[in-house]
Amino acid sequence: MEQTIENMYKQMGISDEVFEFCEEILKGLSNRFLEIDKTAEYNQMKVIKAMQDCKVSEACLLGTTGYGYNDLGRETLEAVYASIFHTEDALVRPQITCGTHALALALMSNLRPGDELLSPVGKPYDTLEEVIGIRPSKGSLKEYGITYSQVDLLADGSFDYENIKKAINEKTKLVTIQRSKGYQTRPTLSVERIGDLISFIKNIKPDVICMVDNCYGEFVEKVEPSDVGADMVVGSLIKNPGGGLAPIGGYIAGKKECVENAAYRLTSPGLGKEVGASLGVLRDFYHGLFLAPTVTAGALKGAIFAANIYEKLGFHVVPNGKESRHDIIQAVEFGKPEGVIAFCKGIQAAAPVDSFVTPEPWDMPGYDSPVIMAAGAFVSGSSIELSADGPIKPPYAVYFQGGLTYEHAKFGIMKTLQEIVNTGIAKLS
Ligand SMILES: *Cc1c(COP(=O)(O)O)cnc(C)c1O
Repeated sequence: MEQTIENMYKQMGISDEVFEFCEEILKGLSNRFLEIDKTAEYNQMKVIKAMQDCKVSEACLLGTTGYGYNDLGRETLEAVYASIFHTEDALVRPQITCGTHALALALMSNLRPGDELLSPVGKPYDTLEEVIGIRPSKGSLKEYGITYSQVDLLADGSFDYENIKKAINEKTKLVTIQRSKGYQTRPTLSVERIGDLISFIKNIKPDVICMVDNCYGEFVEKVEPSDVGADMVVGSLIKNPGGGLAPIGGYIAGKKECVENAAYRLTSPGLGKEVGASLGVLRDFYHGLFLAPTVTAGALKGAIFAANIYEKLGFHVVPNGKESRHDIIQAVEFGKPEGVIAFCKGIQAAAPVDSFVTPEPWDMPGYDSPVIMAAGAFVSGSSIELSADGPIKPPYAVYFQGGLTYEHAKFGIMKTLQEIVNTGIAKLS
């Protein structure tokens, strides 16, 4: 067989019909992809500049053990993050176990009993409900006497300025703004919109701390929320900024005082940032951060590719095929469970790891319906790697994200389409 890409895809289970359908879709996306490449180029320079300015050296790639005093690599990496996000300081640690932990840490360390937390953008990410105490939970902010108020977005997705103003009172200490829609249907917020919201809030109460949950948003735009007034940006290293190589970790970048508070909470009052051995993970933290702008770009292209394929087939997709993007998540509504299951099977079958397993819906703790998940990742649970999941309940939407390379994201989406076609859920002609 001749070494054409068609033949290679054929060996990977992709029919001519699916291949040609996808190529046709891609023809219309070249300008979008060029724009994404330009953003990646800008952000790649931003990362290299930060690494050079902070004098990252070979010694920084090594780790410490025990207390981890004077860990050059850890301290330099935190300076690199502060430089990229244009913040006074940053905390970037393997001891921060995930995104939820990073967010909980930022909140618990900067709020005190009697303070109030405000979310002016509606309900936060599921796992934060227990952190805040919206759902009763041991150790929540609520248990410590920290109250919570929430203002939902208006029906058209805009900010409810009138009610946000009313919600800000003398107790309001911290405002949490989630950039990504997560698994909701509201639009993801652009950095520009976040900036408008922060200005509005600071006009009313200048000393309020504005924190942005930056998960899935890093490097999607040329600017980050910390460039438009956020006092803290918080995220997970097994999403965008870890570039797929970080095996664990979270970050908080922001005002010196906010980061210091978080460090005293993470380790201990009096110890703060001075302890915390980096063990052997620093090389992957640096290496992953270096790759993060292009990894994010690949994931974005994959999301746009999928949106356009499934939109063309008549399914509701969020965001739609043309919308500007502010995070890497794509939702596709199939309207029936078979679509969600076929999609997840396709993603799984395209994976470099565990491609031979078949994902099935199951009852997961914390969810009110069975959930199906597809992931064949090098880092367990990593969602910057190509992954998909969907609750088996109306509107039967699947959410997917990631792909360490655009080529893998593309192949994964072709595999989903092949499954969808094979099971007769949609026809290409
Ligand atoms: C993923 C995510 C979180 C939580 O991160 P975990 O690492 O899953 O704990 C919080 N907020 C948003 C918007 C996310 O996408």
